[in-house]
Amino acid sequence: MDGQGRSSKSDVDISVDHAAARLGLPEGMRQILVTPWREMDVALPVRMDDGSVQVFHGCRVQHNGARGPYKGGIRYHPLANQDEVRALASLMTWKTALLDVPFGGAKGGVAVDPHELSTEELNRLTRRYVMNIEHIIGPHRDIPAPDMGTNAMTMAWFMDAYGAINGHTPACVTGKPVEIGGSLGREAATGRGAYYVLAEAAPDLGIDLKDARVAVQGFGNVGSWFARIASEAGMRIVAVSDHRGGVANDKGLDINALAAHAVRAGTVAGFAAAEPARNEDLLGLDCDVLVPAAIENVITSDNAPTVSARVVLEAANHPTTPEADAILLERGIPVLPDILVNGGGVTVSYFEWTQNLQQFHWDEEHVNTELRSRMSAAYRAVAAAVVREGVSHREAAFLIGVQRVARAVELRGYV
Ligand code: NAD
Repeated sequence: MDGQGRSSKSDVDISVDHAAARLGLPEGMRQILVTPWREMDVALPVRMDDGSVQVFHGCRVQHNGARGPYKGGIRYHPLANQDEVRALASLMTWKTALLDVPFGGAKGGVAVDPHELSTEELNRLTRRYVMNIEHIIGPHRDIPAPDMGTNAMTMAWFMDAYGAINGHTPACVTGKPVEIGGSLGREAATGRGAYYVLAEAAPDLGIDLKDARVAVQGFGNVGSWFARIASEAGMRIVAVSDHRGGVANDKGLDINALAAHAVRAGTVAGFAAAEPARNEDLLGLDCDVLVPAAIENVITSDNAPTVSARVVLEAANHPTTPEADAILLERGIPVLPDILVNGGGVTVSYFEWTQNLQQFHWDEEHVNTELRSRMSAAYRAVAAAVVREGVSHREAAFLIGVQRVARAVELRGYV
């Protein structure tokens, strides 16, 4: 740990350092870009259903606000710790800049296992968290959203608690239920955005999407929507896995039937119209597109040598370790990076925020058309930088994000 209670550099900071060096940014600017602008730690006493009081710990990290209000999810997870939240907040800064939405980057977390609390206890915990960070958030300061362990219901409580102090303010949070100000298309946005990036990249990669073979790890929000949309577009989803197992069918899985099975069984495993498949094997499957859409650090130096896809589409956050990234680069397998591929969620969150500020609703087709246009533009910018700078897609994405944020810092006369 350094003098500010931080452990060693995160992988995100290392990517930012490389980009800053390549852009020739002064050391002072580099420090501004890797240092969170504000961090808040809060104690959250909650009256439990049995009458006892339990104190939880939460934080909100506002990483960089040069391009607009801070934006990022709130995670409820037993292991949510400040180092991880810092790295994820930083990732949001580069993602919002790359997608060119007018936000900075933030992330919040509460160390709690949401499955161990009742709905009422979670409601009280969320309200206490809002009360304790209320003065640093708001529609023009910092706009949270759901992340691991939180959902539309949590965001509804969040809006209600914030509104109790400040008056009705739907734009204070995104990812809300549609009935109370959420955006149509938000639920599918991350998977859909990942598909739009792939569709834009396919001709550059020499991949014909029609009948292309796809393996998807993770069948939650992102993986299942991606699989559904890709399969409707004519791609062949040949394998899918989740934390309890996997299934494969070389002719292509029926994704709607698989989704119905997963709802019933709580897992994709056991789906009748498929062979069982092991999670480890899925990553090495001979296919055109490998889509990690589950958790971080799944493609490692151990399994990167066996990846047999023509491209890796990082729908999850940080699924590839830096060592694995280097191996895939060496092997000529392009990795389309998380800050590009999964930016569809924050992009539609931006649409939700604008709809709330204007008190106006877009139809779903309009949301999807705007989403496609922004995802395609971000991919094209990255692809151009790959050619111009002779770097990987990840390095190109960071170069663009870092340059935009550094320019905003400079223009605002921040120092
Ligand atoms: P989710 O909780 O809905 O789904 C996660 C899926 O991964 C589940 O199917 C789970 O069973 C599976 N999984 C967990 N551990 C696994 C393992 N070891 N092997 C295989 N599968 C495993 O989560 P989500 O919202 O779909 O998010 C997935 C990833 O995408 C995360 O990295 C998240 O940070 C990122 N992401 C999500 C969004 C969004 O809008 N939901 C936006 C940006 C990034």
